[in-house]
Amino acid sequence: MSTDHHVVIVGGGPGGYESALVAAQLGARVTVVDSDGIGGSAVLTDCVPSKTLIATAELMTEVASAAELGVNFHDHEGDTATTIQVDLGRINARVKQLAADQSADIARRLEKEGVRVVRGRGRLAGPDRVQVSLADGGEETLEADAVLLATGAAPRTMPSAQPDGERILTWEQVYDIPEVPESLIVVGSGVTGAEFASAYLALGIDVTLVSSRDRVLPGEDADASAVLEEVSTRRGMNVLKKSRMESVSREGDTVTVTLTDGRSVQGSHCILALGSVPNTADLGLEESGVQLDEGGFIVVDRVSRTSARGVYAAGDCTGVLMLASVAAMQGRIAMWHFLGDAVAPLDLKKVSSNVFTAPEIATVGWSQQAVEAGEILSETVMLPLAGNPRAKMQGVRDGFVKLFCRPGTGIVVGGVVVGPRASELIHPVSIAVAESLTADQLAQAFTVYPSLSGSIAEAARRLHHV
Ligand SMILES: Cc1cc2nc3c(=O)[nH]c(=O)nc-3n(C[C@H](O)[C@H](O)[C@H](O)COP(=O)(O)OP(=O)(O)OC[C@H]3O[C@@H](n4cnc5c(N)ncnc54)[C@H](O)[C@@H]3O)c2cc1C
Repeated sequence: MSTDHHVVIVGGGPGGYESALVAAQLGARVTVVDSDGIGGSAVLTDCVPSKTLIATAELMTEVASAAELGVNFHDHEGDTATTIQVDLGRINARVKQLAADQSADIARRLEKEGVRVVRGRGRLAGPDRVQVSLADGGEETLEADAVLLATGAAPRTMPSAQPDGERILTWEQVYDIPEVPESLIVVGSGVTGAEFASAYLALGIDVTLVSSRDRVLPGEDADASAVLEEVSTRRGMNVLKKSRMESVSREGDTVTVTLTDGRSVQGSHCILALGSVPNTADLGLEESGVQLDEGGFIVVDRVSRTSARGVYAAGDCTGVLMLASVAAMQGRIAMWHFLGDAVAPLDLKKVSSNVFTAPEIATVGWSQQAVEAGEILSETVMLPLAGNPRAKMQGVRDGFVKLFCRPGTGIVVGGVVVGPRASELIHPVSIAVAESLTADQLAQAFTVYPSLSGSIAEAARRLHHV
């Protein structure tokens, strides 16, 4: 299929590059304008680096239970080794290399598919025109039949908590610290804060997590966050709840986080995980008829259209659901819609997501909060992993499987898995939710014996009605 359409995409993250691939596949001429490197924040500073760091943290978590499984470590003289140390320099070098390689892989793929990549900063000059300030100087104007905005978001900071790049850090700056922090304070207990706190704790660092709410991960399943809090505290994390940060300051090698109630906590380093602000300033949006909400996010409908005809938007700059997978899907939907391919509107109730803590927390579909708020009628079953034979063999005690299904039909509408590799275990539940399978259908599929996924089938069996 070939069209005469020229699609201009501003931003080279998952929202941008995934839509470029779809537009090219559908025969459009495609230009991606990107200022900071193909792959975007997802590949260069956020998802890929953090999950690479967490891969080492996972290994450390497993090693911590080695003795229980009969493995001891000895030093070169045969004495029992009491500590295992990480080489943070090597970890960080690996993180940065892996991110750079991934970015290069995506750039090669775009080139192979005939997508033109322009290095520079794009700005709308009307709904059908993008003005680019080129990275190597000069300007270029691109005429477009459709524009997709996928400019992402950046870490939020506060005037009273300014990162210095050395000891007071955003999540983008953590891979440049040369020394292992003696004591780390993570401010913010949303997904990003919880992931970094959990990862650095597993790497053997003294961690304090400052949460303004009465629990960590306030947006997640309450039972899941209770497990995470219990496990993290047991492993030595200092969790400060109902503790709102007022300011972060540094004196020499000491960082002080002052709380609004007057208390303070000190450490050698601090990571600010205060959420994100959309990259939508100075993009010529309002002048071109693109509506923003009060938070500065671009308003889109479920096929990624903005209020300006021919201008679409995808990813973090829309604030719909800040995940790489959602950014990519919004971008693909925009291109399917514009180029006339079959398209279904974005359905957030089918999105599966994961918090990469130890243990992991994976969710899909309707949540317990929604059930309790009466937004949906659902039966619930929750099964601890501790009773699962594979979990016993692996020394896994923490975690559970929770399923939600409609009372009359038994159709599975959501689920939560807490445990090691929950991100992989959630997939059968995602399929059930996406395909409206019943709990009985989910229960009838064979699972391997012994396996953690056996608990998903067992939970589904418990929802059976005679
Ligand atoms: C620490 C962390 C970990 C995360 N981990 C995960 C995870 O495990 N799984 C997951 O699904 N999501 C994760 N996320 C969320 C995920 O990173 C974002 O949802 C994703 O990056 C959004 O993609 P995007 O394409 O909208 O924007 P981005 O990835 O931010 O890409 C946008 C790109 O556009 C460029 N740009 C901006 N303005 C312009 C302009 N005017 N002209 C040209 N280029 C421009 C930016 O420089 C950037 O390169 C994580 C986020 C954080 C902070």
